[in-house]
Amino acid sequence: MSNNTGCSCCGDIVDLTMTTEDMNKCPICNQEGKKVKNITVKHLVKEEYVESVETMNYSICMNEDCDTVYFSENKGIQFSKEQVKVPIWFKKDADPRYACYCSEVTINQVKEAVRDKGARKMKDVLAITGAMKNSKCEIKNPLGVCCHETIQTAIDEALAE
Ligand SMILES: [Zn+2]
Repeated sequence: MSNNTGCSCCGDIVDLTMTTEDMNKCPICNQEGKKVKNITVKHLVKEEYVESVETMNYSICMNEDCDTVYFSENKGIQFSKEQVKVPIWFKKDADPRYACYCSEVTINQVKEAVRDKGARKMKDVLAITGAMKNSKCEIKNPLGVCCHETIQTAIDEALAE
């Protein structure tokens, strides 16, 4: 993965390629989830649930139709869409759909930058929308990772329209 993404958070990027060992199945829908750091879960569940976050690894359910967001390694604790502070952009009915949670830039704003303001590349979009400034992805993004892939996907989709 390239560090040359134009964002302020990818300096110490970790390899996010996952092995099957890292895969965890959602206890509700049985689809594979992605591992998420404990600190990310702690910051993203609503205030009243922070204390029930255990000191173990969590995964996030990537199924757009499933209401479960985070589930723990031992599958004892789960947090649903209603129990997290922000809409999860890839879940059904998320509103708003943030691409960049740190700067609160939505996928629509990214697409508008491409459609209406002539942005063609990542750096154009960042300049127009202000995305990826003051990145705190670990505690702001529901996956705990930089949003550049999400933004790139939105750019690609808008260009293809
Ligand atoms: Zn699920």
